[in-house]
Order: sequence, then structure tokens, then C-alpha cells
Amino acid sequence: MIVMKFGGTSVEDAPAIERVCEIVRSRAAEDPVVVVSAMARVTDQLLAAGQAAAAGDRDLALESARSLRQRHHRTASEMLSGNHLAQLRPLLDSNFNQLEELLGRIAGAQELSPRNSDHLLSFGELLSSEMVSAAIAARGLACEQVDARECLMTDGSHTRAVPLFDATKARLEARLRPLLARHAIAVMGGFIGATLDGTPTTIGRGGSDYSASIVGGALDAARIEIWTDVPGMLTTDPKLCPEAELIPEISFEEAAELASFGAKVLHPATLLPAIEKNIPVYVLNSRDAAGAGTCIRAHVERNGRPVRAIAAKRNTTIVNVAGERAWIPRGFLRDVLAVFDRHECQVDIVSSSQVSISLAVESGSATPELLADLQRFTQVICEPRQAIVGVVGENLRGRQGIAASVFGSVAAAGVNVRMISQGASEINIAFVIHDEDVPAAVRSLHKDLFSGAQADEDQSWMPSPGMSRAGMNCL
Ligand code: ADP
Ligand code: ASP
Ligand code: MG
Repeated sequence: MIVMKFGGTSVEDAPAIERVCEIVRSRAAEDPVVVVSAMARVTDQLLAAGQAAAAGDRDLALESARSLRQRHHRTASEMLSGNHLAQLRPLLDSNFNQLEELLGRIAGAQELSPRNSDHLLSFGELLSSEMVSAAIAARGLACEQVDARECLMTDGSHTRAVPLFDATKARLEARLRPLLARHAIAVMGGFIGATLDGTPTTIGRGGSDYSASIVGGALDAARIEIWTDVPGMLTTDPKLCPEAELIPEISFEEAAELASFGAKVLHPATLLPAIEKNIPVYVLNSRDAAGAGTCIRAHVERNGRPVRAIAAKRNTTIVNVAGERAWIPRGFLRDVLAVFDRHECQVDIVSSSQVSISLAVESGSATPELLADLQRFTQVICEPRQAIVGVVGENLRGRQGIAASVFGSVAAAGVNVRMISQGASEINIAFVIHDEDVPAAVRSLHKDLFSGAQADEDQSWMPSPGMSRAGMNCL
């Protein structure tokens, strides 16, 4: 079997869903399980409706729900007719009735709790999976919508629930194996799951990619395909730099680093189940099904370029913490990190001196409670509106002078660097800059590393036998 995941833009309207059907049909002999995101922008609109309801604007919330209902029905009638349409309509309406009821309850409570937020957002994927399943069935293929809340089991940490892998595998085996045995195509929503007692959860924004690889890992898929709106993984985000080029193949390690540095094309956790089972992951363009896309797998040929790709993680805050004296007492670093840990705040980059520590974190996780807890240290200063830029490539290992090239390029763009880190993996160089400087820095880096003299094929830097990695690692 294979897993095929289609993102929001790939199911955004009737022509998009028709393309999905054709792509699925072309793979039907390989027993696909299809995982879909909500139609483009629906998750944001559901969230906005929930926030409006919580703020007391019940009318605005219900108006949003009505417009979503219309969009789904319009799309359904553009792609289906007769019995197929007649069977889908009540399924959509039943979901929208529940959605409106929930918005009413949120308005009554005047609060959008994480638990209600997950319940609310789950409708996006429930609706799109009903639509795509109906569209595939209308083409004469055996197909069934599967409720992801019955299969993807998670803990109860709402809005970023953690999958329970054993329970999920057992549920997926029980629900999907019989379908696969009779060559029926399962269509399930990504991103959503449920606790063991059936409360809906979500696994974090952009999480449908992760759902797909969880399914692929659990059922030992031959491959996992991530169908999206770009030709594959590119050398950087084409929205930042139109010159970005397709990467034909990339290693698990490199792709995972890029995802963790903000390459939105893959949710950061996507590759974990694939790595564990050594399942290749393909990133493909649903608007150009014949395109080669990107193959992500364990080992790939090195090319002569120093860098495989550049990513940027926006929405970052630097938290600077200073100790009591000009000399850090023993345990200072440990005590500061313990506070971040207690508040479940993931630290992306740390740099420390003898008198202070700077930590780059996702802006939303630098909560007032965390900052209040840090006040016991002498000084806490936050710098919002920052971004982490990650330069990634296996060839960075031991490449002399690459840091000079990277920071020279950033300096030439007139951009100031606030923090620097070279990961223990040695396949990335990461640094923090002002968010507004991201486009200039990325374009300059892309020009210098992919089309400048640095980009030339050059193997002369390759390590000589006997040289230790640490010794080669020359910043
Ligand atoms: P989907 O809805 O299919 O999940 P996303 O919007 O989540 O799609 O991810 C695709 C987007 O990721 C692209 O439109 C592109 O702007 C962005 N992106 C960021 N970095 C990269 C990269 N290195 N390669 C390709 N796309 C990237
Ligand atoms: N629909 C969800 C989101 O917008 C999940 C996804 O698209 O992967 O975050
Ligand atoms: Mg996505």
C-alpha cells in the first residue's frame, strides 16, 4: 500500500478535487490510503469563527459557518450530480449543524478553550474527507471515508496532541486492513485525531503531513506521497525567492532539518515515522502530476554544492535572561532551561555567555506565565519579530570557509545577525535575524550559494582520510 496526502490548496475547489481523483486513480493498483487537509483557508476561518463566538459576536461566527456551508455545497454540486450528490449533501449538513451548535456553545461560554478549539477545527478535515471520498467514489472506484478520530489516537494535549503510536497502529490495522484487502480506497482527514475516550484533538497546524506519515509508518507503506502546490522541495521557499530550484533528492536528515527550520512544505515531525521504517517520502505537485518532484530517503548522492537548501522560521522571539552577578553561578543555565521546560516551551536555539543566555523560541510559546516565572533571574528582555534562518546540507560537514560565505552574504544584504548556532549534526548553520530582514537575507544567500562562485562544483574540500569531523569543522 501507499499513502497519498493532499494539502489544502490541492482540495481547494472542484477542479482541484477532480485533479486529486485523477491522481488517485493513476495509483489505484497500489492500494492507496488518501489523507486530506481541510479545503484551503478553512482551518483559519473556523478558528476566526470560534474567536468571534468567544468574543461575543455570535452573528459573525454563524455568518462564517454559513459561508463555509455554501462553499462546500457549491463545490459538491460543481463536481457531483445525481445520487452521488444526494448522498453527500446530508453528510455535509450534519457536520455543519454540529458546527453551528458548537459555535453557539462557545458563544455561551464566552471562551474558546483548547478542547473546543480542537473540536471546532476538526470539522475542516471531516468535511473535506467526505467531499474527496464522494468524488473518488463517483468515478467508479471503491472508496470509503474513514473518520480519523477513530484511528489516530493521541494524548489530551489539545491543539498539539501527541500521537499514541501503539493504539493508533492497532486502530489503523483494524479499520484500514479490511478495506485494503478488498482494494477499497480509504479517505481520511489529516491533522485530527481523538483521545482514547473519543474527545477530538489536533496534532498541530500543518499536521496533515504528519498524519500521513503516521499512517504510512503504522501500515508499512511502500512510500508516502505529499501532494502540494509547489513542484517539490525547493532550494528555498519560492514565496521568498522566486529563483528557488527543485531538489530532485534529499536525505531524511537534511529534509528534517529544513522542516524544523520552517520549510512549511513539510510539518517538522513528518519524517520521524518514515525514518523509523525507512519509507521513502515524495513531495509532488498536484497541479503537475507528471512532474518528478522530490524524493526524500535515507541516503542520496552528494552533489557538488555546499548547501542543499535554505529555510526561514518566522514568528520567533529572543528571550534574553541575565543572572544576578557578572559571573553566572553554577546551575544558572540548568535553572533557566528548567523554567522553559516546565512551561513546555521548546527552545530552538540557545547561545550563552558568562553573564547571560539568549534563547530563540516560537513567539506564541513565550507566554506571560513563562516570562513571569523567569523574573526571579535579574533581567529578562524579550525581542519579538525575529526569525531563524537555517542553511542546510550534508556537504556543510567539514566545509572550510562556508560560515564566512554565509555571513558575508548576509552582511552584504545589510542584515544584522543577532544569534548564531551550528548544530551538533554539523549539517546546518542557523542564525537569528529581524523578521523584516528575512527576504533580503534569503535572496542574497540563495544568489551566492546557488548561483555564485560558491555554487560551483567543487570536491576539493572533501575530507581527507583520517581527519576527524570535529577537526574539519572550521567556522
Ligand atoms: P499544503 O497545503 O499542501 O500542506 P503548505 O502551504 O503547508 O501546503 O506547504 C507548501 C508551501 O511551503 C509552498 O507553497 C511554499 O511556499 C512553502 N515552502 C517553504 N519552504 C519550501 C521549500 N523549501 N520548498 C518548497 N516549498 C516551500
Ligand atoms: N488544515 C490544517 C491546517 O491548516 C492541517 C493541514 O493543513 O495540514 O493547519
Ligand atoms: Mg502543509
